[in-house]
Amino acid sequence: MTGRRRRTKVFLGTVLHFTGDPWVPGHEGEDDPDAYHLYDPGALVVRDGVVVWSGHLHECPRDFTDDGHVVDHRGCLIVPGFVDPHIHSGQVDAIASPGGQLLPWLRDYMYPAEMRFSDPDYARDAIAFFFDRLLESGTTTACVFTTTHPQATDAFFAEAHLRRLRMVSGKLLMDDDNGGTVPKEYLDRSVEEAEEECRRLIGKWHHTGRLRYAVSPRFALTSTVAALRMAGDLYQESRQTGRPLWVQSHLAENLDEVRRAMEKFRDLDPRSYLDVYNKCGLVGPRNMWGHAVWIDDADRALLADSRAGVAFNPTSNLFLGSGLFDLDRARHAEVRVALGTDVGGGTSYSMLQTMNEAYKVVALANTYPEHLEEKDRKTLTALRAFYLATLGGARALHLDRHIGSFHPGREADFVVLDWAATALLKRRTEAARTFRERLFALATLGDDRAVKQTYVLGEPARPRHQ
Ligand SMILES: [Zn+2]
Repeated sequence: MTGRRRRTKVFLGTVLHFTGDPWVPGHEGEDDPDAYHLYDPGALVVRDGVVVWSGHLHECPRDFTDDGHVVDHRGCLIVPGFVDPHIHSGQVDAIASPGGQLLPWLRDYMYPAEMRFSDPDYARDAIAFFFDRLLESGTTTACVFTTTHPQATDAFFAEAHLRRLRMVSGKLLMDDDNGGTVPKEYLDRSVEEAEEECRRLIGKWHHTGRLRYAVSPRFALTSTVAALRMAGDLYQESRQTGRPLWVQSHLAENLDEVRRAMEKFRDLDPRSYLDVYNKCGLVGPRNMWGHAVWIDDADRALLADSRAGVAFNPTSNLFLGSGLFDLDRARHAEVRVALGTDVGGGTSYSMLQTMNEAYKVVALANTYPEHLEEKDRKTLTALRAFYLATLGGARALHLDRHIGSFHPGREADFVVLDWAATALLKRRTEAARTFRERLFALATLGDDRAVKQTYVLGEPARPRHQ
């Protein structure tokens, strides 16, 4: 076996990836054929963890097929690894908690669950479990909230680095008990100490391997204005360097939260909830705002102009009764939208299950069909759902130069999906008349069982949790 043969791998299967958003304005339910590549049978060629070629199998250069190590996934679908832009590693043991709406749910279930991460043994164990769930669901990149504990955030980055994953994360910033709802011992002791901890974590992990650091104030209600300004200063300062930081937080998830935020920060005279963050210097590129359910067109314009991303978290928005994200308005405003799970508010790690719920949320926009012409009735096509979960997520996170597609030079993170993973999937996908219909059945009926194998930099991901 030559060195080159060892290094080159040729993955055979149905290969699908995107060059852009397949949405066609004014033509609901259609997909732009120029926005994606579908090769069936196709080949994906990887060398040293990087994509070197993808295309129709019969066009695959003989060099690759003759000299490369061939991995046969024919009969399965190969897509770029899923990108989950909004998820909480600290809520591993609190998913599926019956806490009602956002604020009581946080108080009664999430803060107590996250506080357990002060125990280093628990933190390491829970974090390994968390990564196994991501990878078994086909998710290879995520933008993740940890907890307020610097050592648990260290443990998160160390585990991600060991698994060679491209991850964005940061220590949660919380220094306001939000009317006594957060136990004091879970809060940062001071803004100064929190800043020091952030700077240490940034120095240690930002740009270490594939990792990136996100300044992560939890949300406006658990931060003082001084802490939000400190977070904004960290972000702004980094923009003058070659290694700018990311920012993640929650935005206008729940009406009660919005009302309280506007009241709490009235001294800033904010135009909207987003304006609270903007006045503290937090809004700009490489932002990932979770939810953004209760925003208006001026907010959308600011998000689009500043090249910030938002996460559409359908399972969480439904589970917590937060509201219906307006995908249509966001896309008309050209906001960078990604599809997120928001576990533990979300009820599944699976991006397929998240697509399933996203479709239903978009369909609910047609509740009063008498006001809508047939052509204007909103829908989410399966191709667009897969775009949002791959290249769309990568673009929203400003990581599309590294991940999200199979263009040559991209990191070879991908997932192999089995059309016949369950009896139901097998029968329904076999009955499908077109590829689009087949893909829709997979998005609607699929979950982690449909993931045959997840690959990270061209290597199969293996579970590590004991
Ligand atoms: Zn969240």
